[in-house]
Amino acid sequence: MDAPSWAEAVSRMRSCTRCSLAEGRRNVVVYRGSPSPWVVFLGEAPGAKEDELGRPFVGRAGRLLDAAIETLAIPEDSYGITNVIMCRPPGNVFDPEAARACRPWLDLKLELLSPKIVVTLGSSALHALDPAAGPLARLSGETREWSGGTLFPLLHPAATFHRRAYREQWDRDVARLKDLLPQWIPAGTKGEPAGALLTPV
Ligand code: SF4
Repeated sequence: MDAPSWAEAVSRMRSCTRCSLAEGRRNVVVYRGSPSPWVVFLGEAPGAKEDELGRPFVGRAGRLLDAAIETLAIPEDSYGITNVIMCRPPGNVFDPEAARACRPWLDLKLELLSPKIVVTLGSSALHALDPAAGPLARLSGETREWSGGTLFPLLHPAATFHRRAYREQWDRDVARLKDLLPQWIPAGTKGEPAGALLTPV
């Protein structure tokens, strides 16, 4: 069966009731960014602000992520942001059962967006895509190959708010990602991503 269009897929996602998180949500937080990204940043789950506005990473952690994206000098039309789970879990605690229920949506988003690199944010995002990966503390800032392409694990930006060492690691890893980006995607060779005709949300 053919994959749905992006608009069809988003419409289905927005009415999803596959897991119990559907009961308490205000919005299904699908995606923000380019319809043809070469980098997708993958977080864990929406928080209160994201649930309210229906867009991922729009709170304090989102501001740190946006600052990192600016540091990385990724053009606006070249990145996107989403989460493993699209509805807000109670207490902002990552819910593995919801992640399993939401997984087909994540796979569909990645298939339609077809990024060259997925930058995971936090341990749950890394292990959702690469369950065999070791501890994030050991792997952050290191490129990994997985069945879907190239991964670059980062800490979750929210983790950096309470520990200075995490903030220093975040800055180091972002700087490393900046060094590596041209190696993966040389300037002017972005090509024609599969998502070129998609509608941004
Ligand atoms: S978290 Fe995912 S699977 Fe659960 S209701 Fe929301 S969109 Fe559907």
